[in-house]
Amino acid sequence: MESAEIRRRWLSFFEERGHKVVPSASLIADDPTLLLVPAGMVPFKPYFLGEAKPPAPRVTSVQKCVRTPDIEEVGKTTRHGTFFQMCGNFSFGDYFKEGAIKLAWELLTAPQDKGGYALDPEKLWITVYKEDDEAERIWRDVIGVPAERIQRLGMGPNFWSMGVPGPCGPCSEINYDRGPEFGEEGGPAVNDERYVEIWNLVFMQFERGAGTGKEDFPILGDLPSKNIDTGLGLERLAMILQGVQNMYETDTLQVVMDKATELTGVRYGAEHGSDVSLRVVADHMRTSVMLIGDGVTPGNEGRGYVLRRIMRRAIRNMRLLGASGPVVAELVDTVIKTMGEQYPELLTERKRIETVALAEEAAFLKALKGGTNILDTAVTETKAAGSTVLPGDKAFLLHDTWGFPIDLTLEMAAEQGLTVDEDGFRRLMKEQRERAKADAQAKKTGHADLGAYREIADNAGATDFTGYTATENEAV
Ligand code: ATP
Ligand code: MG
Ligand code: MG
Ligand code: MG
Repeated sequence: MESAEIRRRWLSFFEERGHKVVPSASLIADDPTLLLVPAGMVPFKPYFLGEAKPPAPRVTSVQKCVRTPDIEEVGKTTRHGTFFQMCGNFSFGDYFKEGAIKLAWELLTAPQDKGGYALDPEKLWITVYKEDDEAERIWRDVIGVPAERIQRLGMGPNFWSMGVPGPCGPCSEINYDRGPEFGEEGGPAVNDERYVEIWNLVFMQFERGAGTGKEDFPILGDLPSKNIDTGLGLERLAMILQGVQNMYETDTLQVVMDKATELTGVRYGAEHGSDVSLRVVADHMRTSVMLIGDGVTPGNEGRGYVLRRIMRRAIRNMRLLGASGPVVAELVDTVIKTMGEQYPELLTERKRIETVALAEEAAFLKALKGGTNILDTAVTETKAAGSTVLPGDKAFLLHDTWGFPIDLTLEMAAEQGLTVDEDGFRRLMKEQRERAKADAQAKKTGHADLGAYREIADNAGATDFTGYTATENEAV
């Protein structure tokens, strides 16, 4: 089943069951606590918080999502992309636990000619929050899942809250057993590659008070109106329905890998290292196109830096695969071709997307040349001094003058057998930000030497990802 058909079926299944279809929101979150949308519920947050009235008691969507913290997983696990699409159904004070569980089960297991995905029920494993007897009972007694395929998990994976006082509640996840070639048995509690998580059901049930973290807070009582928030990864379901080994081999990403193999002459499946690079290229180029499509431009801070980091990583992997000239135009074109049907904004914005992407490629190729010289000299000096750790100030210089994301420096240093003093790098980044802040403050109060201020401000503003990582898990 093609990705486009998975999406169509999702929306019509829920529409036929009384849900209002809501189009995907932009990746640029309309939310000051988030850089980018990491989950389908984000556009509906005001409804869950009772700050606005929902357009209908039941809604459904297929939301574009970006999760930067998953960047290191890309290509290495079989199931993480920096961009993916989250299919969701939501209830605002309408159906609750039993309703959500029944809908999910019906859609996953109904025959294809009845609009379902026809998954084999015996391959589905359920996790519930360890204290959620009610959910366990529904799965076992109402749906009929054998007790041995229902596992109880702790707060980390199976309890949702936004990290602040407000709604919270247990989750229940549906996982698919891909079989012994993906490792030992024992269910999702012990093996998340074999028993791949496809769908998370969040039961917003309680009101939480203030606490010190994600797990340490008082539950004040039941919410007056209980809500449902669910998320299913479209690419993960596609991977199962298309019978492929990982999400990068599903229809919409495989064509990008094919283009990368065509441009480099490397054959997919020939070698683990180059396979990982091909997957990274496919994932990252798609993410870049989707981000630029929604109006992000490469830069040294915030969203711009997310885009820069992801796009530069894609280009660098193309070079590791053997490409020497520009490659971005053809890769962008391929992504637009495969994603344009679902996201027509890519077609209307094509010219702008190409212009932004090509400019960033040109800037990076130039930076790579200049930066590689600095790096090579620094590596030689480090080795001559008998050390295996590249000093933090060199990483900082590479970032500051050539826009080298830290992971690029880490990778290039590793190729030469060195690690990097990342703490030193972060300290310098922090100092630079503080200097810029202090100068901006001084400027406001009229005490600054403007020339010096400008010089610092021009160089400043690069942010690392901790802020984003800290808020990423706020949703689903
Ligand atoms: P995992 O444990 O596999 O990292 P998660 O628990 O972080 O997933 P949720 O936050 O529950 O994921 O998101 C809901 C669904 O979105 C998941 O069940 C999965 O199908 C999908 N999903 C989450 N992260 C990714 C990703 N990086 N790439 C593709 N799909 C994803
Ligand atoms: Mg995750
Ligand atoms: Mg999980
Ligand atoms: Mg989950």
